[in-house]
Amino acid sequence: MGLTFDHVTLGQRVLFGTGNAAENLAAEAARLGAQHVMVIASDRETEMARIVAAEIEVALWHHDVVMHVPIEAAEKARAAAAGADIDLLVCIGGGSTTGLAKAIAMTSRLPIIAVPTTYAGSEATNVWGLTKASRKTTGVDDAVLPVTVIYDAALTLSLPVDMSVASGLNGMAHCIDSMWAPRADPINAALGAEGIRALSQGLPLIAADPSGTEGREQALYGAYLAAVAFASAGSGLHHKICHVLGGTFNLPHAQTHATVLPYVLAFNAPATPDAAARIAVAFGTTDALTGLQELRKRLDAPKALADYGFTAEGIPEAVAVILPAVPASNPRPVTTENLTRLLQAALTGEDPRARLDL
Ligand code: NAD
Repeated sequence: MGLTFDHVTLGQRVLFGTGNAAENLAAEAARLGAQHVMVIASDRETEMARIVAAEIEVALWHHDVVMHVPIEAAEKARAAAAGADIDLLVCIGGGSTTGLAKAIAMTSRLPIIAVPTTYAGSEATNVWGLTKASRKTTGVDDAVLPVTVIYDAALTLSLPVDMSVASGLNGMAHCIDSMWAPRADPINAALGAEGIRALSQGLPLIAADPSGTEGREQALYGAYLAAVAFASAGSGLHHKICHVLGGTFNLPHAQTHATVLPYVLAFNAPATPDAAARIAVAFGTTDALTGLQELRKRLDAPKALADYGFTAEGIPEAVAVILPAVPASNPRPVTTENLTRLLQAALTGEDPRARLDL
């Protein structure tokens, strides 16, 4: 069979430059003709956000950011934007902050300029997420895709090493899950593979030299590629699992992704040798799981879901909610039994290689 695929590339401007965020933001706000700018940044992100927004006039600051975007927080922010006649949203912070800007854009159709300060990658996707009564809902809407993303590695210097590692492995999960996600194609696979290479180069540099920008730049570049690959390929098994663990059990997003990833890779890799080989090459090894596990060891990455509040009692409910969402295209059939075993192994941090029978 010839090479046949259907790929959509999302339109977005990306400005990348260490130390350039304030200047780039002012130029972009002017280019978009903004008169009433709302800047969203959590309390913890505000000091950094004030520096980034120093060269623009801000009509409204909004600091009420909560992880996984509870509907109540979204509605409060939407009302604040409407009340101040806002014509441009600027989010400066992690994925939770970007998520709140997206929740406003969903209903208002306002443009967003995103200035990310973690490696979550939400800024490069058209996916929104909202949480209502312990159920996280996501959807796709091009109106929530930021018009412009401004990357500045200097803004990530304050991200502690453990959070950088977890967040970077969240990016890694976008790359790896893209290889077998429902809309996987040669273009998003190429982006995902380059994302794996950049993240696996950048994250150890961050751990070795947290105040240097070289590793931070590589990680940010890799995180962007990861998110573009994910937005294009869609959610695979890994994302379906983490989505439920985050939304239903309120586990921390980045650490959950970092913990679950080797189990999903161990589960799927034997059933998809081409994807596994591609992942291995991107890690610079001959075996995908070995590549991931060696990197995780060097980084002292999160190991067990039990460390983040998950318990064995939660497994049956998690399995029941995850199972209907698993893409039919997953390379290996997913059953109540094998998904239960996967979650049991991730709960306690068992060696995933010893659990290839998952
Ligand atoms: P986060 O945004 O909640 O940030 C984690 C913590 O780090 C917060 O306390 C934040 O204030 C702090 N922080 C952020 N940047 C910092 C910096 N440079 N220095 C010091 N502290 C900093 O977590 P996250 O992992 O970035 O994002 C997770 C959220 O993003 C989840 O809700 C997830 O669903 C969403 N997400 C969405 C998409 C999408 O495509 N829609 C993609 C990835 C993640």
